[in-house]
Amino acid sequence: MIVIDNAAIATVDADGTEYRSGHVVVDGEHIVAVGEGPAPTTDGRRVDGSGCLVTPGLVNTHHHLYQWATRGLAADSTLFEWLVELYPVWGGLDAEITHAAATAGLARLALTGCTTVADHHYVFPRDGGDQVEALVSAVTRIGVRGHLVRGSMDRGESDGGLPPDHLVEDIESALRGTEHAIDTYHDPSPNARIRIAAGPCSPFTVTERLMKEAAELARRKGVRLHTHLAETLDEERQCLAEVGCTPAEYADSLGWLGDDVWLAHTVHLAPGAIRRLGETGTGSAHCPTSNGRLGTGIAPARELLEAGAPVGLGVDGAASNESGGLGEELHQALLQARQRGGPQALTVRQALWMGTMGGARCLGRQDELGSLEPGKLADLAVWRLDGLRHAGITDPVAALVLGAVPDIELLLVGGETVVERGELRTADESAIATELRTASGRLR
Ligand SMILES: [Zn+2]
Repeated sequence: MIVIDNAAIATVDADGTEYRSGHVVVDGEHIVAVGEGPAPTTDGRRVDGSGCLVTPGLVNTHHHLYQWATRGLAADSTLFEWLVELYPVWGGLDAEITHAAATAGLARLALTGCTTVADHHYVFPRDGGDQVEALVSAVTRIGVRGHLVRGSMDRGESDGGLPPDHLVEDIESALRGTEHAIDTYHDPSPNARIRIAAGPCSPFTVTERLMKEAAELARRKGVRLHTHLAETLDEERQCLAEVGCTPAEYADSLGWLGDDVWLAHTVHLAPGAIRRLGETGTGSAHCPTSNGRLGTGIAPARELLEAGAPVGLGVDGAASNESGGLGEELHQALLQARQRGGPQALTVRQALWMGTMGGARCLGRQDELGSLEPGKLADLAVWRLDGLRHAGITDPVAALVLGAVPDIELLLVGGETVVERGELRTADESAIATELRTASGRLR
């Protein structure tokens, strides 16, 4: 058992319950008690939470971990220019590089409060080895939960797509690879550490047939669906020219809206599309820093929440978000929503909700993750708020969302310690950095 007490607690439950000085008790993988005042037991390991805020662990809904090895390139480009510059570099990816990059990216996420990570991997060079295994082993090494999206691209330059032909798979290989990943790694149990989803990359890199057949495969296997959608105006223009409708209408026509789907970005949505995402329960992975880095626009996060759509936060790949930390996305989401809709557009508590329960809903894990309640999995972050960066801020949630990203006093995943006193406990940070430098060097 682990008993955390004397801490401020934001449970992010349906009532938004918070405690000024309370306790969380963890027994094995689960939370067994949360409340105000001293803990009802003195058994087990005690963690003094004085000066700290406990929240559910953050849920990252969109990433490309392999990109940790290709940061800092195409620094001042649009999305399409950035992709065209990076595709040839990604062509050199192999399992060893992907493992090193993913380990580094996951370490960074854990150190910024993240306990569950959705990774969208869509680059499978022919001689690149077992990319999915490389990701699974990185997730296991760092000790977070992984939702690995087996991505795919089957529309190369010669078919009017953006990627070079040698980087795309044929449709049969893409579907076979996706099915193999599901059969090998997908764990449907409530405390799963690894789940698999199906994820054709985007309308401008994937054929209509692959979009449809990937959705059929996912629904036959009972896994979720993920893709990029409505990220840029370039994408919208191309979609209008090719199929005569917007990306959201196109997705709808292909059976790609539903409560088993979450979409990365959804920046450019007409009012009718926002309503459709709400009606269908389609999730959005809002990636404010990446959208800012590429200047793509500001996603209508508040409007989506009002329409009833699940909205989670994502860092996106580190090649368009070199920091790769999830804690700071709470802050960025709030700033971007307010730039779009004024100071009441998103409250600090709504930002925290998106980073926790909103993300859990996008991944279909709202019954197990996303809030601190008895019976839920013990995935939580203890944020230290009594140092120079936050001292004197009386509202701990405002300190977390408006202030600098705090150090992590303790990060638990299923009751197991991943970060303690600001340091990764599951792997050696300097060894990870060395591996990453070598991997990144091999791609240049
Ligand atoms: Zn992305």
